[in-house]
Amino acid sequence: MNRGASRRHVLSLAGVAAIASVGAGVPAPVVIRDVRIFDGERVRGRGSVLMQDGRIAAVGEVPSSARHQVYDGGGRTLLPGLIDCHVHSFEGSRADALRFGVTTELDMFNDPSLLPEARRQRRSTAATRQADLWSAGVGVTVPGGHPLRPEWDFPRVESGTDIERFVADRIAEGSDYVKVILENGGPPPRPALPTLTPGQVRRTIAAAHRHRRRAVVHAEKLGLALSAVRAGADGLVHAFWDTVAGAAEIAGIRRAGAFVVPTLSVVDWGIGAKELLADGRVTPWLSPTQQYLLRQEPQDRPGRPDFLGIGSANVGLLHAAGVPVLAGTDTPIRANANGVSMLAEVAHLVRAGLGPPAALAAATSAPARAFGLTDRGRIAPGLRADLVLVDGDPTTDITDLRAIKAIWKNGHLVDRTPPEE
Ligand SMILES: [Zn+2]
Repeated sequence: MNRGASRRHVLSLAGVAAIASVGAGVPAPVVIRDVRIFDGERVRGRGSVLMQDGRIAAVGEVPSSARHQVYDGGGRTLLPGLIDCHVHSFEGSRADALRFGVTTELDMFNDPSLLPEARRQRRSTAATRQADLWSAGVGVTVPGGHPLRPEWDFPRVESGTDIERFVADRIAEGSDYVKVILENGGPPPRPALPTLTPGQVRRTIAAAHRHRRRAVVHAEKLGLALSAVRAGADGLVHAFWDTVAGAAEIAGIRRAGAFVVPTLSVVDWGIGAKELLADGRVTPWLSPTQQYLLRQEPQDRPGRPDFLGIGSANVGLLHAAGVPVLAGTDTPIRANANGVSMLAEVAHLVRAGLGPPAALAAATSAPARAFGLTDRGRIAPGLRADLVLVDGDPTTDITDLRAIKAIWKNGHLVDRTPPEE
C-alpha cells in the first residue's frame, strides 16, 4: 500500500513543525538513529524513528536537528511494543509486562474494578511503569462452570438469566469486549463441566455486537470452537488441542472471519519457561514474581494427550489458510509470567509454522487490527511511541527478541531494573 508513503511524508512535516514550537521545559524530541525497522508487518530496512509528545513523529529518513536528543540504535532491530492478547492481571503484573517489551495487555477475565484506572492510563501519553490494559472484565459462564476457583465472586448466567441484560451490565462495568466461556471439561480424569447452551452463546454474542463490542470465546476443543464461530464469535482465545482439524473445518473458520489467539504457552508444560530461565539475555531482568511463576511445575500427567503438538498443528493449518493468528500467553496460568512469556509464545508460533515476521506481526500489528486498537501495533507516524529495540534480528531468528536493549513506552525510556519485592 503506497498510500502510506505520502501520509508518512505529511506527518513527518507535521512533526518538524511541532518541534519548532517546542518551548522550555518540554522534553526534547528523541530520534532513534540507525535501526533496522520491523514496522509490525514487514522489515523496512535501516533508518531512524523520531518520537515526540508520546507519539511517533517520523519514520525512515529523519532530518538532523540540534533540537533532537539522539539515541544511537547501533544497527539493532526496532519493533513496535508487543501486545499480549490473553492475560489475567494482578498486582504488579503490568510492570513485569512492560519490562519485557509488552506495552499492551488484553485481559480475558478479571475483576471489573480494575477497569477505570486502566482506561485512564491507556488514553494518556504520560510516562508510566505499566503496560496499558484492555479487559473483558467478568467473563460469561455458568454456575459450577469454568473457571472453577475464582478469587472473587462474580455474576454467572443461569437458566433463566436475561442475557441481553447480563451483557449490558458487563458493558456498564467497563468491559472492552465480551468473553464467553465454552468449556465442558474432561478428558477424564478431569471432571465434565456444565457450560453455556448453544442458544445462550448465540444470544451473548449477538448482545455484544449490539453494543458494538467484540465477542471472544474460550474453547479448547474443535467442536466447541466450531460452534462458537458459527454463533458469530469474532475470535477464539485458545487454539483447540483435542484433535487436528480437517481442511473443511479450517476453511469454515477462515470464512467466518474469526481470529485465533492460540496460547500455546498454556499447554507447553513448562517448555517455554525452561527456555527462558536458561537464557542469560532474559534472567537478569526477571522480578521475583516472574521467577516464581516460571519455576512453577505445571502438572503434567503420564498418558495425557499431546495438547502442544495437536494445538501447534492446528495453528499451522489456521495460519496457512489465512486465519489471523495473534500472540497471547494466558499468564499467570501454568508456568507463564507476564511479559517474558511472550518471548516464548512467539517461538512456539514459529515452530507451529509462522515465519518469524508473521510471528512478530502476531504480537504487534495483528492484535491491534483484530481488536481495533488504532493508536498502536505498528511503527508509523501518529501512532503511540511504544517501541522495543533488540540486539540481532528477530525477523530471521525469533529468539533474538529475548535480547532486549531498550524499551520506550509513550516515548519514555523504560527502567528495566526488576523490583526486589
Ligand atoms: Zn485465560
